[in-house]
Amino acid sequence: MLEVEDLRSAYGRIEVVKGVSLKVAAGEIVALVGSNGAGKTTLLRALSGVQPITGGRIRLQGESIEKAPPHRRVALGMAHVPEGRQVFAPLSVEDNLRLGAFQRNDDIAVDLERVYTLFPALADKRRQAAGGLSGGQQQMLAMGRALMARPKLLLLDEPSMGLAPLLVQQILDVVASLKAEGVTVLLVEQNATAALAIADRGYVIETGRISLQGSGAALLRDPKVREAYLGV
Ligand code: ATP
Repeated sequence: MLEVEDLRSAYGRIEVVKGVSLKVAAGEIVALVGSNGAGKTTLLRALSGVQPITGGRIRLQGESIEKAPPHRRVALGMAHVPEGRQVFAPLSVEDNLRLGAFQRNDDIAVDLERVYTLFPALADKRRQAAGGLSGGQQQMLAMGRALMARPKLLLLDEPSMGLAPLLVQQILDVVASLKAEGVTVLLVEQNATAALAIADRGYVIETGRISLQGSGAALLRDPKVREAYLGV
């Protein structure tokens, strides 16, 4: 689904993604874990095209996309749920969802129902302003908005950020259920335990470089991961 080779990205002269290579196979959940400032968000933004790159290659289903603008990447099947949700606060829940489908010209009614089934809390609030939702509901809305594009690959940036443990589990359960529907997921998380528990495979990123990779279960057992990210 996704092949990334030697990807680099910088802010001015400071390189923060320093030659990252990774792969996500169709149908997988792959977790990218690492501490604050490791470069996770920058990497995800580079993949969706909202952050310039200084080198490397990105292929989506075999097609080179590193020069494609973000909207083209969406049309090819990539959707990005950004860090901090970034919902359109004054717009209604349903209008936020409709915006996720702005490049489609087929019927989206069934997709709206799918989102409301995945996140029943949103169905009750469909006519309310998105800005009035709780943090957890805004996260659900940001994920729903991305799903409205019918993505093949979902890029999720820290969906658990700032949420109570029960909600974190609820959101990650939905991520796991998307896999059952055939959506491939690249999940960025600081909450390494929860992310690796639902991931088929994972990568650890440290100061812009991949330092470890393996199955979710193997990384959860790895003493280096346990010490650095799980606090045990
Ligand atoms: P977090 O979990 O805190 O979001 P992260 O792993 O996602 O961390 P990034 O947000 O990608 O890390 O940041 C990587 C590095 O780039 C950090 O040192 C950060 O300070 C720096 N950085 C991020 N955004 C900018 C920016 N707009 N301008 C300059 N430096 C930036």
